[in-house]
Amino acid sequence: MLIRNATLPDGRTGIDLLVRDGRFAAIGPALAAFAAPEGIEVIDAQGWLLSPPFVDAHFHMDATLSYGLPRINQSGTLLEGIALWGELKPLLTEEALVERALQYCDWAVAQGLLAIRSHVDVCDDRLLAVRALLEVKRRVAPYLDLQLVAFPQDGVLRSPGALVNLKRALDLGVEVVGGIPHFERTMADGAESVRLLCELAAERGLRVDMHCDESDDPLSRHIETLAFHAQRLGLHGRVTGSHLTSMHSMDNYYVSKLLPLIKEAGVHAVANPLINITLQGRHDSYPRRRGMTRVPELMAAGVNVGFGHDCVMDPWYSLGSGDMLEVAAMGLHVAQMTSAAGMRQCFDAVTVNNARILGLPDYGLEAGCRADFVLLQARSPIEAIRLRAPRLLVVRGGQILARTPERSASLQLPGRPSSVDFTLQR
Ligand SMILES: [Zn+2]
Repeated sequence: MLIRNATLPDGRTGIDLLVRDGRFAAIGPALAAFAAPEGIEVIDAQGWLLSPPFVDAHFHMDATLSYGLPRINQSGTLLEGIALWGELKPLLTEEALVERALQYCDWAVAQGLLAIRSHVDVCDDRLLAVRALLEVKRRVAPYLDLQLVAFPQDGVLRSPGALVNLKRALDLGVEVVGGIPHFERTMADGAESVRLLCELAAERGLRVDMHCDESDDPLSRHIETLAFHAQRLGLHGRVTGSHLTSMHSMDNYYVSKLLPLIKEAGVHAVANPLINITLQGRHDSYPRRRGMTRVPELMAAGVNVGFGHDCVMDPWYSLGSGDMLEVAAMGLHVAQMTSAAGMRQCFDAVTVNNARILGLPDYGLEAGCRADFVLLQARSPIEAIRLRAPRLLVVRGGQILARTPERSASLQLPGRPSSVDFTLQR
């Protein structure tokens, strides 16, 4: 396959990409003149933006598309969502879980989202969701990278049997160690859970991704403990703190000490803009806190920050469609990252930054990388966010997985063009 005349996220235009044996063989200006082998499929990108695919660093595929089962979250809070999930769990079947997850993966692929890290609840002696998502992982493997986190939703110490079940899930092939220290009974139990889970990951050579400080309580400081154990155990680059919403409410002086510790420990951060802006601050009157973690400050401190979708149509969130550009747009607004550089960073937060969090070895627009990409009907990453641009073409390993027609509206205005597509041709 030869793709001609693409614009890349770094701003280069008129770029050709040659794909051979499912990998990028060459990327550069005007390759077509000298490198197009006979009989090759040629795609004219017409100057549209060609990006590496979207990656979601934080999702819950065992709960997705269950909205309204068995009832709707009335208060809209995290804690009612957790209670509602507890009501739903005994009613779940493996078949329904697999079917909903596969449907979500269809949506994801159609939107150019080709790698997802999903937490899977292990607080169930049957490990129903674990078995279902391992089956989904196997079935989508030809077209989507699904990485699973063993997530003790009800607390690894607080919930009887959770640690045993978490280890069973890892034995079955779940590859990342999860946790939820702020949900344990006490701060001390939370810290103890971080210690034992990090040690478990170190023993088994696994990555760690914890729901960490998803709270408006400024004294929820488990991220400090997570960074400490990541440093102590040499887990640099392998540990992620998800949510970190308490940081929104922390004292500035304490944060000025905390950020360098996170950076030093090589801990990644994930914000979940759609969910954090919806769930946090629910106990406030006015002014009401936004609750999202300090994204620009973390980035400025040199911490790798990704954005996750977290939820789509489940006990915690009633909307969503697997569109990582919607996630980027919400993150941009909530974090007030409206400078040109800030907006581009929000695009990175749903692409390359998340790929680093998952540790995807073949990801990127470089010769030798797997030929995975999405062609967007936009001229730049900023325009892609602004327009939630149509995914004209979604490709993995040189194989076309999905196509969407260009979006335009026909106009019937005197003295004006006959159609409009909302892009600026420059
Ligand atoms: Zn989550």
